[in-house]
Amino acid sequence: MLKDTLGRTLRDLRISVTDRCNFRCVYCMPREIFGRNYHFLERKDILTFEEIQRVARIFTGLGVRKIRLTGGEPLMRRDLDRLIAMLADLPDIDLTLTTNGSFPAEQVFRLKEAGLKRITVSLDSLDNATFQKISDVSCSVDQVLTWIEACEQARLTPIKINMVVRRGYNEKDILPMAEKFRGTGHIVRFIEFMDVGTANGWRMAEVVPAAEIVKIIHRVYPLEPLPSRYPGEVARRYRYVDGQGEIGIIASVTQPFCGGCTRLRLSAEGKLFTCLFAAHGHDLRRLLRSGCSDEEIKQFIVNLWRKRDDRYSERRSEATQNLPKIEMSYIGG
Ligand code: SAM
Ligand code: SF4
Ligand code: SF4
Repeated sequence: MLKDTLGRTLRDLRISVTDRCNFRCVYCMPREIFGRNYHFLERKDILTFEEIQRVARIFTGLGVRKIRLTGGEPLMRRDLDRLIAMLADLPDIDLTLTTNGSFPAEQVFRLKEAGLKRITVSLDSLDNATFQKISDVSCSVDQVLTWIEACEQARLTPIKINMVVRRGYNEKDILPMAEKFRGTGHIVRFIEFMDVGTANGWRMAEVVPAAEIVKIIHRVYPLEPLPSRYPGEVARRYRYVDGQGEIGIIASVTQPFCGGCTRLRLSAEGKLFTCLFAAHGHDLRRLLRSGCSDEEIKQFIVNLWRKRDDRYSERRSEATQNLPKIEMSYIGG
């Protein structure tokens, strides 16, 4: 097993397939920065499906058991189902995808048929006006709910629903979200607003702490904590005492979980990042395109992971806020 300097095993790979998105969520790709003049990656610079498949295969040989496709918005990448089919062939891999759920729901069935196992859909509010204020586009809540229903029909279950909670925007939606998905088998994951990148103007005052989120739900629908299912699980799990399912809380600001962080991220242009808050990536594309053997690429990854000592969230302070950081839409959420 491959371990880093803090004894953490490499288990998960997040692959960003594009840095583009059809949404302009204010906490991720604010329109003032990601506007008409923003330079997204060029086609020639992003990894081909064949390159992604090769890298993924090498990673499975190093112990990776979970691959999440993300972005930007992964469904912006044409023929994504072809990539899914290429990755689904890899042995022992839990293959999942995170999406904003805004694309035509028929696509869900193509993804499932290609071999996708599970899906995470982001939805920050059930109130259309709030949802559109946050996503800054005209897509409606109903469109995303239709996508979620299609995922249910396609049995891409259990479906996870990500809600980023930001004070002043959607804390009033915590309870309605819990209410809507209780008893459906879907798992809402409430995410603390994070200081990823530098575009979103993050302030600690806008973070709704996990403890407050739990309290809001617990008052109406009593909750009790559940143990993690595996080491390094990101979400803290709670079950409804009345048996109506569970929720997750991703408390990377108030209860950091770097100690169990088994994730490596691959950007669309082939850079490896050992932390979501890293300033620099490690260029794998150069190796892929200069005739390196699988063994050489493997060694590069092994050396990178063995040196890894990241624990940004545990060291978060006013000082770290000013460090250069990569944007979430580029590195992959
Ligand atoms: N576009 C897809 C989506 O939104 O589901 C996938 C990529 S997105 C970067 C992945 C996840 O990161 C989403 O659930 C999104 O809400 C979350 N996210 C983005 N910026 C965030 C921030 N500043 N704090 C917390 N979560 C964030
Ligand atoms: Fe796009 Fe996802 Fe970022 Fe929203 S959170 S802007 S949907 S990449
Ligand atoms: Fe992992 Fe970095 Fe997040 Fe800590 S801050 S959990 S090391 S990605």
